[in-house]
Amino acid sequence: MEQSYFDKTVHQTLEDLDSRPGGLSDAQAAQRLERYGKNALADGKKKTGVQVFFEQFKDLLVVILMVAALVSLVSGEGESTVVIFAVLLLNAVLGTVQHFKAEKSLESLKAMSAPSAKVLRDGVRTVIPSAQVVPGDIVELEAGDMVVADGRILENFSLKVNESSLTGESEGVEKTADVIEAVQVALGDQKNMVFSGSLVTYGRATVAVTGTGMHTELGKVAALMNQTQQRKTPLQESLDQFSKKLAAVILCVCAVVFALSLWRAMPVLDALMFAVALAVAAIPEALSSIVTIVLALGTQKMAKQNAIIKDLKAVESLGAVSVICSDKTGTLTQNKMTPQKIYADGALLAEPELNLANDVQRLLLKAALLASDATTDEERGTSIGDPTEVALVMMGDRIGVDEGVYRSQHPRLRELAFDSDRKLMSTLHVIEGVPTLYTKGAIDVLLDRSTHVLTGAGAVPLTPEWKERISRTNMELSLEGLRVLALAYKELPEVRDLTLDDERDFTFIGLVSMIDPPRPEAVQAVADAKRGGVRTIMITGDHKVTASAIARQIGIFREGDEAVSGVELDGMSDHDLDERLEHISVYARVSPEHKIRIVKAWQRKGKIVSMTGDGVNDAPALKAADIGVAMGITGTEVSKDAASMILADDNFATIVKAVVNGRGVYTNIKNAINFLLSGNMAGILCVFLASVLGLPMPFAPVHLLFINLLTDSLPAIAVGVEPARKGLLDQKPRNPKEPILNKSLMLRILAFGAVIAAATMTAFFVGLNAGGAALASTMAFATLTLARLFHGFNCRGRESVFRLGLTTNRASLAAFGAGVLLLAAVLFLPGLSGLFQVAHMTAGQYGLIVLLAFLPTAAIQIYKVLCDRRK
Ligand code: ATP
Repeated sequence: MEQSYFDKTVHQTLEDLDSRPGGLSDAQAAQRLERYGKNALADGKKKTGVQVFFEQFKDLLVVILMVAALVSLVSGEGESTVVIFAVLLLNAVLGTVQHFKAEKSLESLKAMSAPSAKVLRDGVRTVIPSAQVVPGDIVELEAGDMVVADGRILENFSLKVNESSLTGESEGVEKTADVIEAVQVALGDQKNMVFSGSLVTYGRATVAVTGTGMHTELGKVAALMNQTQQRKTPLQESLDQFSKKLAAVILCVCAVVFALSLWRAMPVLDALMFAVALAVAAIPEALSSIVTIVLALGTQKMAKQNAIIKDLKAVESLGAVSVICSDKTGTLTQNKMTPQKIYADGALLAEPELNLANDVQRLLLKAALLASDATTDEERGTSIGDPTEVALVMMGDRIGVDEGVYRSQHPRLRELAFDSDRKLMSTLHVIEGVPTLYTKGAIDVLLDRSTHVLTGAGAVPLTPEWKERISRTNMELSLEGLRVLALAYKELPEVRDLTLDDERDFTFIGLVSMIDPPRPEAVQAVADAKRGGVRTIMITGDHKVTASAIARQIGIFREGDEAVSGVELDGMSDHDLDERLEHISVYARVSPEHKIRIVKAWQRKGKIVSMTGDGVNDAPALKAADIGVAMGITGTEVSKDAASMILADDNFATIVKAVVNGRGVYTNIKNAINFLLSGNMAGILCVFLASVLGLPMPFAPVHLLFINLLTDSLPAIAVGVEPARKGLLDQKPRNPKEPILNKSLMLRILAFGAVIAAATMTAFFVGLNAGGAALASTMAFATLTLARLFHGFNCRGRESVFRLGLTTNRASLAAFGAGVLLLAAVLFLPGLSGLFQVAHMTAGQYGLIVLLAFLPTAAIQIYKVLCDRRK
């Protein structure tokens, strides 16, 4: 039998690679994909359909219904028992379908937020979805990446990874490319391996993939893990609590009704049935599942608009967001950097004037190309890498200098990778026999670390006059909203490992400024957010002057606003910050720790804060914010892992759209709750009234079951998918402390319930006078069902249907139509009408039912029209 790939040793994988130094060919990769299946970051076993189906029977309501079925059986109503069981089954099937639908939509969201990987295929570096990675692939890792498969390190540049998903240990682990002795491996030393699910926190490495999917260490753990369960959102939890309390109250009321019935000398079984019917009518068992469905459907809609929600909780909080802290580069701007002006040897020149005959300018270009990783393909007009570096490489392209040639002439021997905290990046090369460190980075940082400046006459001391001259040039460029990058060099005595201490005593070479225009849609989005009571704050690693200029163009920075730098922020106490917070609209040269301070300061003011981030170190701030937002295109996997929302297009406007959708979803959930509870209220009032007045039972348990099954599913979901209204941005953000079931909602539930109950009881009395208990019950049942179906239109929004538009929510029309058909089937189909104990009715009585069922909706709509007018 052929030996499986996974049975081979890591060494064999490496041997395999010896024959394919440029990585797998596309054909080989496709073959392996077929053989080993798609790679996945394992996350535990899923529940089976049968398990989910049986879980539907854990409900309190089901227990009550079982009692009802039993009571029916004992009291000789075998048909009712059959119906109850049939309905229970149907209910469980519907619940199972809903569960898998919600899960499917969450799965597809998960797939969208799945990481990608940089692999070498046929010698070409390409970015592929992590699912396509196969054993034998050569994967390049850098800070911020998620390791998507197990692998042996081939080349290591100070790689540090966080393996907490495997070991629980959040300290970074240093790695090596060395061969490790078998004895050490046996002792658990796996320093030359990386594992799926870990996060790269520092450095770079090239890795040969040895295992994917379930054949990784994480896969093995996941296979042992219990099922992963989506945790309930705060809203679901509070609604669950509410449902439990309500159920307790209802059971007490049922006990009272039961006692009352016995006191009126009703037979015990009938009295029990009465109490059970009340419980069935009153318990809002669909509440939590409707919330899940509406949230899940909401996330689907948001995903279509490029906002990928990773956590259902985020949808609720989104609607309450009142402050959006946004990165500048790439989110508010296009992140398309184009070189503009260059400063070298005391002269400011336009980028096309760059001249290789000038020594300083030539060195500037050399340093820019060697201390960057970006590559461009001029023929195809494409580029890979950090846009700031792409701009530098473009400078070379324009005068015919290929970055690849420079880089192969002077290979990179060591490097200190860029990080937003240091705002510097350094690489070591041997230039004409001299080990030389090239550094590029933020001008303020680099200028402070320079002692000399390169001129046409060689390096001269960086006098205060020179510093002043350079700073003035920087100010001039920054005021135009340009990003300014400084370049410097330093000669070292020998080639040796670098430390951060090496980044000092530089010779300053010059400046490259680049333009990154604002996104055109950002201006409108900032204005929209403002109208909706949401404040936008710019937080950037860029220079204060550049940042303020761009913020002004976008409408974030207005007269009287302040811009504060990270250093100034450090000098402020929390008290000072709290005092000035409302005035500060730009934070520049900030580090990720500052972001946490800003989030906390706004949270102290009771605001719900959304914070964007893309780097490795942004993860804590993303977690501290109420809504952590990561960038789908340029963001690191670490930031995506920490965020609760990912922007597929890195666009600020998408956040504002998501806030609007979040508000819409919250309103829809509120409306669905209104629909469910006011309908239940009507049922309770009817049963309670009949009990107090000593009348026969208005509904048989099967009636209430039917009503519950019918109205708790389709119409409730239809209310939940009401399209977001334009007016949502005219309201202020909701108060996050206010419970969803506030006084005004409770009042509406009570009032709507009372009106529907009045119509139902009128039908009941008419039936009682005309033909006795059976007819009364049939008329009450039909009226309540139809009235609740009509009521679906009332709950679509605060406004009248005329204002909302009858056809703007097609789902509500479809749900109404399906409900009416089912009701007609129960009333008119001989088999069903027998099961549902339907009495014969005249045409006049049918007409009366329709009229009575419509009256509450007519009254509610008239009331809404009057309110619309008043507004
Ligand atoms: P944002 O607005 O998203 O915070 P930013 O790009 O302005 O983004 P950082 O990426 O943290 O913020 O960059 C901070 C500063 O570091 C920049 O203003 C620039 O001077 C410098 N810088 C940016 N990219 C590089 C790089 N690749 N190498 C060296 N320095 C860089």
